[in-house]
Amino acid sequence: MTQPITVPLLDLKAQYATIRDEIRPAVDAVLESQMCILGATVAECETKLAEYCRCPHAVGVSSGSDALLISLMAEGIGPGDEVITTPYTFFATAGGIARVGAKPVFVDIDPQTYNIDPAGIEAKITPNTKAILPVHLYGQCADMDPIMAIADGRGIPVIEDAAQAIGSEYKGRRAGSIGRYGCFSFFPSKNLGAAGDGGLITTCDDAVAEKLRILRAHGSKPKYYHATIGGNFRFDALQAAIVAVKLRHLDQWTAGRQSNAARYRRLFEAAGLSLPSPAGRGAGGEGLVQLPVEMDGYRHIYNQFVIRVPRRDELRAYLKEQKIGNEVYYPVPLHVQKCFDYLGYKEGDFPESERAARETIALPIYTELSDQQAEWVVECIGRFLKG
Ligand SMILES: *Cc1c(COP(=O)(O)O)cnc(C)c1O
Repeated sequence: MTQPITVPLLDLKAQYATIRDEIRPAVDAVLESQMCILGATVAECETKLAEYCRCPHAVGVSSGSDALLISLMAEGIGPGDEVITTPYTFFATAGGIARVGAKPVFVDIDPQTYNIDPAGIEAKITPNTKAILPVHLYGQCADMDPIMAIADGRGIPVIEDAAQAIGSEYKGRRAGSIGRYGCFSFFPSKNLGAAGDGGLITTCDDAVAEKLRILRAHGSKPKYYHATIGGNFRFDALQAAIVAVKLRHLDQWTAGRQSNAARYRRLFEAAGLSLPSPAGRGAGGEGLVQLPVEMDGYRHIYNQFVIRVPRRDELRAYLKEQKIGNEVYYPVPLHVQKCFDYLGYKEGDFPESERAARETIALPIYTELSDQQAEWVVECIGRFLKG
């Protein structure tokens, strides 16, 4: 039996303690230069990120949400257009589509991976479909080959929402290097987080990269001449300096998350708490946990470690009592969000997304999580399920 111990969902102070001595001089250098927006620090950070994502171009922007927004703007997507995406994601995915005036068209998820089910896409394509926007949820890529085949066959661009998936791989290719656009976020809770907001778009297309650079600065080129309307989507140099330092540690942090995931698997299995894989089975009734499924040939970077459990809400309350951090990503699928009433969807339209929203819970998976903390998490879940 393990001693009770507090386990936060994420411990960014523990991470900062390990890199403080590298971060402080990097921040000081920007302050001394007083080049606080775009400039050399941002350009250097972009070069390193492009290399990391194995893409020729990386364009730093103000946030992951804005990365999605300006990718849609660069395609000229607007009123009357449709963009196919998943209803089981962070709001920004569909929010960006609606903000350019286009219509989000949802396709349900694959219950094993929680990512868009490519088999459902074809039926939703119309002459108005102007992009497909898959999300690499929790750090594992969507099944990109069939998505690219559908899109390429029709000349439809693919925008990858890779906000949770930096360094994630699909059959040897990095997230963000497969579609025309790869959108990343440096929100602090992402695997590569800034000390504030920031984002990035990767692309293999030279002309697209140029267009994105113009759009992020109000569409101006040359300065004060505007052939197109952009916005203020610029990347902050202080954030770029911090991201560049943290990028040096990212692979080691990812390895830590992956070994934490492997340790959870061992612990749940040893305790007799886990359902055997082929996932997609209901969590209810059996009193067991469905562990995340790692697809063959993918590199899962575990932005989140999400399990399906019976009596999810009761378990959440129990874990909260035990001071174990946890979260539900996401409790309300986007097709039933109030603001999307006008799209005309209703409860029951996307049963797998709705089931995932009812049955899943994210556990602490951050790199610095100790053996003792992980053991305590699994022990508490065992007590709840068996008790
Ligand atoms: C975090 C996130 C975003 C938005 O990124 P911000 O930097 O917070 O604007 C978009 N999509 C997904 C899937 C995300 O997880």
